[in-house]
Amino acid sequence: MRIGTGYDVHRLISGRKLVLGGVTIPFEKGLLGHSDADVLVHAACDALLGAAGLGDIGLNFPDSDQKYKDISSIKLLAATGRMVAEKGFTINNMDATIFAQAPEIAPYKKEMQKNIARAVEIDEDRVNIKATTTEGLGMIGRGEGIGAMCAV
Ligand code: MG
Repeated sequence: MRIGTGYDVHRLISGRKLVLGGVTIPFEKGLLGHSDADVLVHAACDALLGAAGLGDIGLNFPDSDQKYKDISSIKLLAATGRMVAEKGFTINNMDATIFAQAPEIAPYKKEMQKNIARAVEIDEDRVNIKATTTEGLGMIGRGEGIGAMCAV
């Protein structure tokens, strides 16, 4: 059995959609990035790539490539799932945490789990998503960004 971890942070700015786990969440700001900046899905990709010994998301889906501009990160996750499968691995489980002062994540967790599970073709009950604030502390607490980590 192999284990991988992923961690990512993106900046929150006005004028962008907020997409987390493939769910568009109504909020006054969104995450800045070359793709849709889905920080949760990026952490999940990095965890899978790490477990399979396939490097990281920047290596496999470079942000210098116009093909990935504004792309749904769920598509990157699906591609990552295929790469992992091609190496002969199956995914047993994925466990992730979102770090956000706002908005409230709980109402969207189920849909995120469904999107992620579908992208990598595993059962929904193998994907667990948690969320926490940082009690107002630091860059996350000030609402400057949203972070996520994932273990697989
Ligand atoms: Mg990222």
